[in-house]
Amino acid sequence: MRIFETPLYPYERSPDQDAPNPACHPVVVVGAGPAGLVAAIDLARRDIPVVLLDENDRVSYGSRAICFAKRALEILDRLGCGDEITGHGVTWSRGKVFFRDRRIYGFDLLAEEGHRRPAFINLQQYRLEELLLRRLRDLQSEGRPVELRGGSQVTKVEPATDSVLLTVETPEGPYRLEAEWVVACDGAGSTVRRELGLEFAGRVFEDNFLIADVTMKADFPTERWFWFDPPFNRGQSALLHRQPEGLWRIDLQLGPGVDREEEQRPENVVPRLRQMLGDDVEFELEWISVYTFQCARIDRFRHGRVLFAGDAAHQVSPFGARGANSGLQDVDNLVWKLERVLRGRSPDSLLDSYDAERVPAADENILNSTRSTDFITPKSETSRLFRDAVLNLAETQPMARPLVNSGRLSLPHVYLDSPLQSPDVDGLPARTRPGSPAVDAPLGDGWLLARLGDRFQLLALGSCAAETGYAGVPAGIRRKAPASGSSAALGIDVADEPGLEVISLPAGRHPLLDERYLGGAPGALYLLRPDQHVAARFTDYDPERTAAALRRASAQETDDP
Ligand SMILES: Cc1cc2nc3c(=O)[nH]c(=O)nc-3n(C[C@H](O)[C@H](O)[C@H](O)COP(=O)(O)OP(=O)(O)OC[C@H]3O[C@@H](n4cnc5c(N)ncnc54)[C@H](O)[C@@H]3O)c2cc1C
Repeated sequence: MRIFETPLYPYERSPDQDAPNPACHPVVVVGAGPAGLVAAIDLARRDIPVVLLDENDRVSYGSRAICFAKRALEILDRLGCGDEITGHGVTWSRGKVFFRDRRIYGFDLLAEEGHRRPAFINLQQYRLEELLLRRLRDLQSEGRPVELRGGSQVTKVEPATDSVLLTVETPEGPYRLEAEWVVACDGAGSTVRRELGLEFAGRVFEDNFLIADVTMKADFPTERWFWFDPPFNRGQSALLHRQPEGLWRIDLQLGPGVDREEEQRPENVVPRLRQMLGDDVEFELEWISVYTFQCARIDRFRHGRVLFAGDAAHQVSPFGARGANSGLQDVDNLVWKLERVLRGRSPDSLLDSYDAERVPAADENILNSTRSTDFITPKSETSRLFRDAVLNLAETQPMARPLVNSGRLSLPHVYLDSPLQSPDVDGLPARTRPGSPAVDAPLGDGWLLARLGDRFQLLALGSCAAETGYAGVPAGIRRKAPASGSSAALGIDVADEPGLEVISLPAGRHPLLDERYLGGAPGALYLLRPDQHVAARFTDYDPERTAAALRRASAQETDDP
């Protein structure tokens, strides 16, 4: 039996089903796809009790995502499964673009040295989910508070003032469950979204694409190959990607209005593949499907105590690999905020910043995805003429290559307008400005991102390293009494910030770290968030200003000096 046909978390009766009143849990995550699994793992690691519900009892059926980007791998590193997942994938950063029967140019997505993770790995989505499940099981055996309930379909969602009531359908009948917070990761057809009456707004595309996963022995390199108007699929596009286990992904554009059933018949697929691969290549079909897509999202990702993530919140075309990758970034952004709110360390307005940060991220993905789709599938003769002229030019003129759009591949969003950020200062490198995810750098015996934890942290570099001391809470940051009338838990509590640690690194020891974080400046102090995004940075150390930045980044009252 193939992995996606194997029940990995079969339905089991829960004591909640026999409780006289609905049992209440701090967090219920609906949907155990990539987003839901990562949310549950992150919550469990933080010792936040979480129930993960899925209507199914197995990993994603058939072949869907294959490309997982550097940022997603860095998130998985933070969750303790980056090595295993990267190890199972095939690593790539290069690609080639073809037009008709010519190779017009090649590219490298990570030409720069000094990163622990590659630009991309390719790994079947069902394998990713299997490995995430393994991580979740490991956490359970460590005694972390996470429960996965298979065969548990959420059918009704009733928001109340301080909680949400869920009706869960099981093979033994329905029961009700109460959650302080619901994370809706139930995918493109989200029941939670429908129950809350939320609409997806965006564009539906008419084109059909055929996916064929084949096993073959072939000497194609581990690269992304994309064809515009190839001889073997005239007027359409094609994509070839290597996957692990001798598998290859072939994605052929079919155009609008095709008979989907007919197109999926092996007797129709095999001749298409023969035309592409040639008569000499032996291959076996592993998976065939036809997909269409839309680029759309709901208006807000926070609706009271229900937080939407992944495909339940937004959808894009597969070009650019922005679907699952952005779902992982959603929950990376959300979970630390949820933890702080549940522990009373931040007010619940911190969760509004999830919306403020991830909605623009979704818009960026939708924009890129829509543009790629328009370039790949021109909607008028004029657009096609323009597209073909760009492709012809790109063959000889490198300056035309940025105009070629065969899918702008997933990059993390920079939260430039986030309410959690402090204003930037002059003189430090642009790539590590507030809102950016921390850029990795080698530290001699390890990597910067591996040194950063998943709490707030100060990175003191160069002259700032000496100013703050070398470990522990920086000198000068002291607890400030809460303002009268405000709750002590929400008071300004900087010295007691759990895990607030200073990583002090004098300049000159790690050249790439200095280049990426100092530029030419003598010193810098970075405040990093629990999701490893930069919240603030300064070129000198001022305890009051640093404390104010921390309060802003955790949505505690702001009183900038
Ligand atoms: C052909 C193709 C290629 C793609 N390639 C890429 C790629 O290379 N890279 C990339 O990043 N993305 C890619 N994507 C997109 C990616 O597959 C999705 O973005 C991703 O699966 C979304 O993850 P999710 O966890 O949000 O939702 P899903 O994976 O859809 O998971 C939703 C889960 O919720 C469960 N569920 C649904 N309803 C209920 C309910 N009522 N109650 C309980 N459980 C429920 C489902 O059983 C499922 O387990 C591709 C998609 C396609 C179709």
